[in-house]
Amino acid sequence: MPRSLAHGDYRLIMAIESASRANAWYRVLIDHHSGQLSCDCPAWTFRQNTGASGRSCKHTRIAQLLMRPEQGVNAQRAGLPVERARGAAAAAHHLVQATRQQWPGLGGRWSFEQRTSAIDNEPYHFVLLHLTTGNGTTATGLVAFARRYHPTTESMVAGVAGWAGYAIAADIARSAGYALAGQPPEHFKVTRRTANGRHLGLADILRVGDQIDLGDGYTPVQRAENTLRLFLGDSLYTQLERQHFLDVSSVRYAQERRVYRVRRDPNKQYDRRVRLFTNGQYVQDLCIVRGQDVPEADHWLTVFLSLISDEERTLSVVQQYNIFPPHSDDYYQREEETIPVVWQAISA
Ligand SMILES: [Zn+2]
Repeated sequence: MPRSLAHGDYRLIMAIESASRANAWYRVLIDHHSGQLSCDCPAWTFRQNTGASGRSCKHTRIAQLLMRPEQGVNAQRAGLPVERARGAAAAAHHLVQATRQQWPGLGGRWSFEQRTSAIDNEPYHFVLLHLTTGNGTTATGLVAFARRYHPTTESMVAGVAGWAGYAIAADIARSAGYALAGQPPEHFKVTRRTANGRHLGLADILRVGDQIDLGDGYTPVQRAENTLRLFLGDSLYTQLERQHFLDVSSVRYAQERRVYRVRRDPNKQYDRRVRLFTNGQYVQDLCIVRGQDVPEADHWLTVFLSLISDEERTLSVVQQYNIFPPHSDDYYQREEETIPVVWQAISA
């Protein structure tokens, strides 16, 4: 683990490609408590004397500018906008579509912006994705491509869907009370997979753009499981493996302390119905149907992300005939709820 990641509560705010190595990525992280940016490039990692302006590198400086382009004179240095879109136009854009394909379930209004700027005379292309969720939170993902390695939109698909999509999904999970989900992933392409597969990187989950044909031998089912495990992180994934569900607190029905228990088949074969609790009581089952023929892990993550990003829309597709009394899918044996639900207020 890079030094910048040790001991802390960090969020990925930008992935920036090395100017000298294609698809080698530095991650600019923000410390939640101090607001301090860090980077895992050598310059930041080995710079010990920080000076008056604090520890920085060229990557944290550009990230700072891009995060707050409205701040006066700095706006120019944050690069020239080359494309902007919001609403339907943004949702239809190739880069946004790829992101939604990689992270199905994320619901809300998308917007994006592309800028160009030079870092140390090296041309860079910045893609900023923004999602305002139906649940009322906002999330952003920012990726900086070295233009020489990524000259076209098509060449940026995997990087945007991987890095920006990951950051957005992580932001949303954090807003929904899952602070442990979406820890910054390892670099992709430079990650060496270990024999036991414990150290997953973005390359192990991407299924869009030029990352499809990695020749890594993963089946779609394995890739979906990797995605779930990488995104949830060790602690939450272990919890899901142990208890076979995660609870999502409702934003829309907060007054009745509604909780969705998003369950997972221990054998990872079948979709389980979501158990709905109000004021701590198990009252209903919801059947959220798989949209397409996707792996079971994919479907579980889609339901999870849908509920934490756009609860209203998720419920709107559950028809009356997909709402059942409790225990409606206890096919083999009655599955009692032994772990109480804990509702937590989510501030929208
Ligand atoms: Zn750096």
